[in-house]
Amino acid sequence: MIDFKKLENIIRDNNSFLLSTHVNPDADAIGSEIAMYNILKQLSKEVRIINHSAMPFNLQFLDPENKIEKYDKEKHDLLFDKSDVIVALDFNKGDRLVSMQEAFEKSTTLKICIDHHQDAGNAFDHHFVGTDYSATGHIIYDFIKQTNIAALNSEIANPLYAAIMTDTGSFRFERTNSELHRIIADLLEYDVDPVKIYGNIYDENKLNKIKIFGRALSSMKLIGNDRISYMLITQKDFEEVDAIESDTDNIVEYSLTVENVILGMLFIEHKDGFKVSLRSKGKIPVNKLAKEFDGGGHTNAAGVRMHDSRLEDMLPKILERAEFYINNDSQE
Ligand code: 5GP
Ligand code: MN
Repeated sequence: MIDFKKLENIIRDNNSFLLSTHVNPDADAIGSEIAMYNILKQLSKEVRIINHSAMPFNLQFLDPENKIEKYDKEKHDLLFDKSDVIVALDFNKGDRLVSMQEAFEKSTTLKICIDHHQDAGNAFDHHFVGTDYSATGHIIYDFIKQTNIAALNSEIANPLYAAIMTDTGSFRFERTNSELHRIIADLLEYDVDPVKIYGNIYDENKLNKIKIFGRALSSMKLIGNDRISYMLITQKDFEEVDAIESDTDNIVEYSLTVENVILGMLFIEHKDGFKVSLRSKGKIPVNKLAKEFDGGGHTNAAGVRMHDSRLEDMLPKILERAEFYINNDSQE
């Protein structure tokens, strides 16, 4: 059980808040920031939202007033000490802040983590973590309902809907149950337009994004008796179709749509390393596979970012470990 009373007290007892989320933010990350911003504003708190990554094009509608700022060392470092509380949303380790990690770790300000991932790091003073939650936005919803800290309204319900919709894979992942649908029914009472939110997030793609999807899908290979699929996007692919990393969001979900596949991977080559997104069905713990390479995540969705390692060197090692996990089900 998350100690929401304690979270409420921390909020009521302090005045200025710095909110942030992980690199390459998704709608749960941005939606949780905007919802929390609006909760804090109802309480007349001072709030800044600062992210390492620029706002993804398809999530801009969640921040119509451009409250979210992109991190600028000169402009923002002072805030890490001047704020009363730093609130980490939808991540649990300092390295997920990338360029902001140093300022975050140096700061002696009270740091709290509101999140639903496993294996939280020790960079925080207080954790408000529920690994059973479908989304960080779902935790924020429960926080509002259990404490009445703020009145639910359209400005809070819209980003929370977007957060929960995306982190449940549009209401199809395992944690989609009657309780979750009741929450969604409640949010829909507050001028939330599900057609518009889905359309904005998933159906406003630039052509380059579709092209990079094509590259990834055509690269797909099956191994491990056709139970593992993997795709690869190289720097050359990015250059040739003029795409960027955020255009690759959700491609990995296609890895599990192939018959018999229970573990899927997407390798993305960076200029200084690479990223792997991992997905699985059932009990295959891809977070454990990710952890072997210093990554993390959930049982069925995890990832690894490696700097200063070459994809050619690591790919065979990761594939070999992936085979181990499908042969050993949920074992360590
Ligand atoms: P995605 O593949 O969508 O980027 O990430 C899936 C999940 O894996 C996310 O929930 C995220 O928390 C986790 N994840 C992705 N990349 C990393 C990483 O580099 N380090 C850690 N610790 N977790 C990651
Ligand atoms: Mn999330």
